[in-house]
This record gives sequence, C-alpha cells and structure tokens, in this order.
Amino acid sequence: MSFSVLRDDLRRLAAYHLYSSPSNVTSDDLGSDTVASNIVENVTAVASSPVTSNLPPKPQFEGKANATLVFLARNSDLQGVLRSMESVETHFNHKFGYPWILLNEEEFTEEFQEGVKSKTNASVQFGLIPSRHWYQPDWIDEAKAEQGRNALKASNVIYADSVSYRNMCRFNSGFFFHHPLLQPYRYYWRIEPDVDYFCQLQYDPFDYLKDNNKTYVGFTIAIEELEKTVSTLWQAVKEFMEQFPEYIHPNNALAFLSDNGGETYNLCHFWSNFEIADMDFWRGEAYTKFFEFLDSKGGFYYERWGDAPIHSIAAALFLDKNQLHFFNDIGYQHSNIVHCPQQPAFLTGSCTCNRVLSIDYRRHSCLPRYNKMLNRKW
Ligand code: GDP
Ligand code: MN
Repeated sequence: MSFSVLRDDLRRLAAYHLYSSPSNVTSDDLGSDTVASNIVENVTAVASSPVTSNLPPKPQFEGKANATLVFLARNSDLQGVLRSMESVETHFNHKFGYPWILLNEEEFTEEFQEGVKSKTNASVQFGLIPSRHWYQPDWIDEAKAEQGRNALKASNVIYADSVSYRNMCRFNSGFFFHHPLLQPYRYYWRIEPDVDYFCQLQYDPFDYLKDNNKTYVGFTIAIEELEKTVSTLWQAVKEFMEQFPEYIHPNNALAFLSDNGGETYNLCHFWSNFEIADMDFWRGEAYTKFFEFLDSKGGFYYERWGDAPIHSIAAALFLDKNQLHFFNDIGYQHSNIVHCPQQPAFLTGSCTCNRVLSIDYRRHSCLPRYNKMLNRKW
C-alpha cells in the first residue's frame, strides 16, 4: 500500500469519526484549532428534507474521486451562492454528486442553510472557520496596515481599505485546507458566488487531474494582478527561493511568472475563484514553509496580497510545469471576465457562452505566456 493510499484511508477514518459521532470528538482528536463542536452536520438533514422543484435530478453515477466542492461565503451572499450552485449542478455535479462544503467565519443562518440544501441532492456540510485562521493577527502593526490601506485607496484599488477582504485572501492562501471538514478530502473545486458555467462537462475533472498526474491546479482564466496589491511580493518570493532552493522544481513554470528569468514578476496568476487542485500540495512541506514565510512579511495586511498570486507562484515554482492544467473545455464566467472554449472541437459539447468574448487572447490575459512556456499554439 502506498503512503498516499494509507493517508487517504486515515482521512476517511478521521471523517468517519468526525461525522458519525460529532459529539464524541474532542479537541485532541483534531488538533488545538478544532471547531468540531461548531460544525453543523447536515448530511442526514439533507436526506430527509422535502424535495423542492429546485433540486436537480439524482446523480446518475457517483463521482469516485476523493473530492469536494468548497464554497466560502457570507450569509449576505446567499442569492449569488444559489445561482452558482445551480450552474455547477446543472453543468456537472448532478452527474457526479460530489459533496458541498460551505465555510464562513460566522454561523450560517437557517435561511442560508435551507436555501443551499434546496439546490443539490449531494450532501452538504456547513463549517465555521476558527478565529485564528481568519482575523488579522495581533503581531500585525495596525498603524502600518492602515497606512497601506489608505495608500491603496488613494490609488483607487478595488477592496483597498477592506480588512475582511484581506482576511479572506489570507484564509484562502494558508488555511482553508486545514479546516476539519476538509480533512477527509484530497481534491477540491472552489466555487464563488455569482459565477456561471457554460458547458456540459462530460467527464470528471478530478479524475482527469489524478489520472494525468496533474497534481495541482486546474484553471480556466490566467490574468495579470493589480501591481499595487503585490508591491513587495516578488522580493519576498526571491528571498524564499534563495533560502530554500531545494523546493524549486527543475522543470518549473517560472517563465509563466517572469519575463526576465525571475528578476521581476510579470503579475501573471491563475484566477483562483475557479480552482481545482490537490490539497496535498498545500498541506505539503514546500507550500507550508512558503506560506509561513510570506505571512511573516505581513503583506496580506500591509499590502493586499491575493490568494491567487500566492497559489500560482507556489504551483509554478514548486511543481513540474506539466502538472498545471488549463481546463480549456470548461466555459466559465466570474464578474465581467469569461473563458469560453475556442476550438470547434470543444464547442460540440454544448457550450452556451459567446467565444468572441473570451478573455484568452485579450489584453491582460496570461494564457499566451502559459502556452508559449509549453510550446503550444493554443
Ligand atoms: P472577488 O472575487 O475578488 O471580487 O471577491 P469576492 O467578494 O467574490 O470574495 C471571494 C470569496 O470569498 C467569495 O466566495 C466570497 O463569498 C468570500 N468572501 C469574501 N469576503 C468574505 C467575508 O468577509 N466572509 C466570508 N465568510 N466570505 C467572504
Ligand atoms: Mn468573486
């Protein structure tokens, strides 16, 4: 039995203990940051809840991957959450029935939970995020953080003065995969409010990653970050590379991140509002050290480092570039940016998006750099 199989089994075992008798779980079972007592377990509630007309058909067959759909949201996001869930269920999950996990730093309301459960036949769990994974740490110099927020505000940067947005970015960078509800799982697909999927997916993307040794990220949109939000990030990354050269993969994707061999950052990153990835990578030694190193710089609060560049830089540096994957055949829209499959072959799968609007080869898209790195025409 390989180590990873054993590890998966241990996770399932942990999950069994957690969900079969939540009241018996002590904080020692799960580590000091457990929030087991705050986890709302809804698997049985889902099975017995009345079927509403919103529910998609029963899954045709079970998704076999050790995977979950992860959704960070606020209670106020409910309408956007429902819209996204409907799109995911309609285009993919009604066939596979992968479980949903919704996370929040506050308790989800009854209304929120009922709404979410009405959108899927799969199991749904609601988890509370431990405070220390969310809020601005005490060691952050608040005066300096405020200065940073004001500076971004003066430059009209989106979310310039939002502390909660920074909490969210730090949580998505370093903590979501440590949440107790996620421990049984290895792969995840991240969903956000108000996103749209456009193509019927005929296969299981989790299986695709696993079967093709794409250990890490599946993305649909690669784009440039706002420079002012990451002013000192690359400097910190270079320091890390100097201190820990052993983590840099010999066949890395540095060419996606830098146009001059690593001297400066070209701001390219995979947009993380869509993200299919292997949490073992985030939980592993290289990424753990990387996150701790960056976190200690305080840039999540002094600037506004996003989880997308953090994830992307780590994946590009620590993995073989062939372990990254562009899900070209998944039509997807977040805010006003859309990826729609281009080649006719992809359009036979009934995509409803307008491919003329696709960001792929427009200004600020980093797809051309990605393709160039892999010597691909498309
Ligand atoms: P954008 O995509 O960068 O414009 O940011 P969003 O507002 O979509 O936030 C990213 C994700 O984090 C979404 O899933 C939001 O629902 C979630 N989110 C953002 N801020 C908060 C927050 O303060 N609390 C919680 N629980 N979720 C948040
Ligand atoms: Mn969003």
